[in-house]
Amino acid sequence: MKPLQKIVILGGGTTGWMCAAMLANSVNTKRINIELVESEQIGTIGVGESTVPPFMDMLASLGIDEVEFIQATQATFKLGIQFKDWLKKDETFFHPFGRAEAGMDELSLYHLWLRAQLNGDTFSRFLDYSPNSVMAQQKRFAPYKAVPGTLLADSRYALHLDAGLVAKYLRNFAQQKGVKRTEGKVEKVNTSIDTAPRILSLQLESGQTINGDFFIDCSGFRALLIGDALQSSFTDWSTYLPCNRAVTVQSEALPELPPYTKATAQLAGWQWRIPLQHRTGNGYVYASKYISDEQATQTLLSNIQGKTLTEPRIIPFTTGMRKQVWKANCIGVGLAAGFIEPLESTAIHLAMRGIAEFLQQFPHSDCNPALINEYNARLQQDYEEIRDFIILHYAATERNDSDFWAYCKNVDWPASLVQTVEYFKARGDVPRKLAPLFESTSWRSLCEGMNIRPSAYSAFIENADYKASKQHMQNYKQQLVSLVKQIPTHKAFIEQNCASSSK
Ligand SMILES: Cc1cc2nc3c(=O)[nH]c(=O)nc-3n(C[C@H](O)[C@H](O)[C@H](O)COP(=O)(O)OP(=O)(O)OC[C@H]3O[C@@H](n4cnc5c(N)ncnc54)[C@H](O)[C@@H]3O)c2cc1C
Repeated sequence: MKPLQKIVILGGGTTGWMCAAMLANSVNTKRINIELVESEQIGTIGVGESTVPPFMDMLASLGIDEVEFIQATQATFKLGIQFKDWLKKDETFFHPFGRAEAGMDELSLYHLWLRAQLNGDTFSRFLDYSPNSVMAQQKRFAPYKAVPGTLLADSRYALHLDAGLVAKYLRNFAQQKGVKRTEGKVEKVNTSIDTAPRILSLQLESGQTINGDFFIDCSGFRALLIGDALQSSFTDWSTYLPCNRAVTVQSEALPELPPYTKATAQLAGWQWRIPLQHRTGNGYVYASKYISDEQATQTLLSNIQGKTLTEPRIIPFTTGMRKQVWKANCIGVGLAAGFIEPLESTAIHLAMRGIAEFLQQFPHSDCNPALINEYNARLQQDYEEIRDFIILHYAATERNDSDFWAYCKNVDWPASLVQTVEYFKARGDVPRKLAPLFESTSWRSLCEGMNIRPSAYSAFIENADYKASKQHMQNYKQQLVSLVKQIPTHKAFIEQNCASSSK
């Protein structure tokens, strides 16, 4: 069996350079050449600025210094997402990262809390036990690694970052590790004449030919290799998630930097706000069946805090994924592989998963079908888990004030989501999965926010002393609030530890 000798990456957006960095960090670039082709003329999509905690693990695995990265990308810390007006108007809930367990195990805490609620003893909200939620409420921040052994040790964080600066940073990193960059526009993809064609080379507008024995398609929504050349079909999930466009605009930095993304439901979709050190990212994700581009732009502009810095830009998209994200000698990664609307900021994570799983299954040049099948199954599971989690934000709404929300309420749920929610109602937890992104605290926060609760608490906590456990929970809650009061505000933390020098 022949080992791979040359891997070609098409695309230099966040995905392409993240892919180059992760590959170059894992393989010997003297034995396996890695070449990335990108076209400045085409450019990148330029959005994708809110991440989830595994992004921090990726930076650590590359040996990237977190402070240096934050300074270079104008990043701020993200403790979770605040959801406003999703269940009904003027109701807000928070999806925190990390766990809520109050020094017990997560399931016991949830059921003890549930027992109090069901008995009408409403002395606390579930999120009073989430360190991330309490920090976010007070707009304060301390990294969990700096406070070991305290109540904040269960917290986790991700980053809000400038997508353009991230690609630039990772490009530098990858090039230093031996990745070759070629500027040029791919005009033609040469494939073998075969019943199951493989990619042979990329032909650039300049006439140059780039050969390789494995190709990674990071060409964004164009999907030039996995879609156009290899014809991997697309599974469309728009029936479940009808939003298909976004209008985006940047505005000046917020005076106090909230350590969370804000997602506000609107009449035909929702609006994001992502605070960076030097500016704020904003966008309205909407379903074009229910609102025009002009109306969506108007709504976005009338709901922005501070001055806008750019002209509004419309980005069309389709929610779904390729049936085979690995086909023949090519994987699609990032937007080329699929896209689920950005409500839970999961696209960069899915791209990371695509690369990490490729490294896990790393093939010889024959690309054994068993590896391909396993890869495709794992990626499908990742995409479907996230799809289901996002559908629930819409499908459990009690809103009835627009045709859009009426549609969302009546959508047929995928069987996997029906099963998850049924299980949740029975157990207060979600079925175990292999390496899920969203764990119990995420589902509990979302379900609580969308008014989905088990109708009974678990019998196994009947033995717990109600008075003692209530006392413990009340003490924990108070201690957590007063501990958080002692840590710096998010803004002060950034100023003192990782402010970017260019504003
Ligand atoms: C509205 C919206 C909001 C989003 N928000 C988030 C978020 O908050 N969090 C998150 O994780 N993700 C988010 N995403 C997704 C995120 O933007 C992408 O995952 C991320 O930017 C990576 O994109 P990419 O690199 O796959 O594609 P792109 O950035 O489009 O890059 C494609 C690359 O391919 C190159 N290319 C294309 N065609 C050719 C050709 N013919 N020849 C040579 N080069 C070519 C381009 O030059 C470019 O370098 C969002 C996406 C959208 C649409």
